[in-house]
Amino acid sequence: MLMTLSCQAGADFEPADLGYLVHKHPDKVQTYAVAHGQVHVFYPEVSPQRCRLSMLLEIDPVGLVRRPGQGLEQYVNDRPYAASSFFAVAMNRVFRDALGGKCKDRPELVQRPLDLEVQLSVVRCSPDYLRQLFLPLGYAVETHNHPLDPQLGWQQGPYHTVTLKAVTQLHKLLNHLYILLPVLDPQKHYYVDQDELEKLLRKGEGWLAQHPLKNSIVERYLKFRPGLTRDALARLQETPEDPETVTLEADAAEEQLEKPIRLHDARLNRVCELLKESGLNHVVDMGCGTGKLISRLRRFRQFQRIQAVDVSYQALLMAREKMRAEDARVEFLHGSLLYRDSRLQGCQAVALVEVIEHLDLPRLRACEKNLFGFLRPQLVVLTTPNRDYNVLFESLSAGSFRHHDHRFEWTREEFREWGLRVAGAHGYRVEFEDLGDVHPEHGAPSQMGVFRR
Ligand code: SAH
Repeated sequence: MLMTLSCQAGADFEPADLGYLVHKHPDKVQTYAVAHGQVHVFYPEVSPQRCRLSMLLEIDPVGLVRRPGQGLEQYVNDRPYAASSFFAVAMNRVFRDALGGKCKDRPELVQRPLDLEVQLSVVRCSPDYLRQLFLPLGYAVETHNHPLDPQLGWQQGPYHTVTLKAVTQLHKLLNHLYILLPVLDPQKHYYVDQDELEKLLRKGEGWLAQHPLKNSIVERYLKFRPGLTRDALARLQETPEDPETVTLEADAAEEQLEKPIRLHDARLNRVCELLKESGLNHVVDMGCGTGKLISRLRRFRQFQRIQAVDVSYQALLMAREKMRAEDARVEFLHGSLLYRDSRLQGCQAVALVEVIEHLDLPRLRACEKNLFGFLRPQLVVLTTPNRDYNVLFESLSAGSFRHHDHRFEWTREEFREWGLRVAGAHGYRVEFEDLGDVHPEHGAPSQMGVFRR
């Protein structure tokens, strides 16, 4: 079984820094003994753009069968090739410190979100279940099925090559794999007891309690032992902290700040109006949040297909819940503005209401390419705060943003400059509009760019 982890260069991050995070020198091949074989770690690529690290687990299948209690009766089995609980054990052997978020020499790297991709060469799984496990954690998921012997005309096999992509901290990704690979493996080889429960809670910290499939994850990880499963679920209930809830609360706080001018309503109404006037039918609400624009769009028959996309699974759940009745025109999609998404191809208009300022500046190019280069809708309506106006919010201290997750806020000048550049580069015309009452010196609280092709 082979796992390859790739990491792109980023701001303040050289690809070779990955070596510090995993405590493995990029120039060396290292081999470790594990109970059922050997595991090798090496780097197929270390370039200025990218670093790739491979972990190869070699299992001795004969040894496994001879050892009692492993649940393996046959010499020919998939253990040497497919991801399994053996692989998770090997990960713990090789990446123990990285899993624990420890980095002796460069501790500041640990919390840095990195552009990561992991490929698992062979995973026995249902792609649906795999998606349900990883999408809520913010991964883009790709699976490639390996058919059974095509020459014999056999059908699809249960094995897939799986690629997961996310911008996240390395220790988070490793912990997700550490718990979820055994969850996918029906033949978990070890005995589960209280220690396993503690390990599950430790490695699941910060994400498992909020996972929509937490019951299934806990049950499978603990091999359906009812007592342990019950205890684990009860302890997860007590876990309060959830970064997404914090973000949704910050959304509410931002709205509160802008409330006296009922800015958000005005903004959404204006965006809806523009979309309506365009006469277009297929609209994407990118970064839909809890669905405020969707509920406006649904009032009009003109919109025959409405795709609501967000990176936050929790926001999507809330948006769907708010809709109450089913509406066949509306599709909720977990996805990101930064990645090409063929599900959105052919859309005619894209709305981006108060989303762009949530992107890290270095990711802006990816967003431009995807939106104006790949999706290329006829109309893009994009709103963002006007930083010039912030001095007029009394409760906002100087220099701070309106929302803790904003990565930047543009002045009118900066927004114009950006808008004109991307429009010019991709063959669009752009018009700018103020949103909210205009102050003679600081302008309007919010600003909008309307891009047409
Ligand atoms: N458009 C909504 C929500 C704005 S809050 C409204 O006006 O009410 C910003 C939203 O953008 C959040 O829900 C956040 O999860 C989402 N978001 C942030 N980065 C994103 C990305 N790369 N792709 C898609 N959505 C993103």
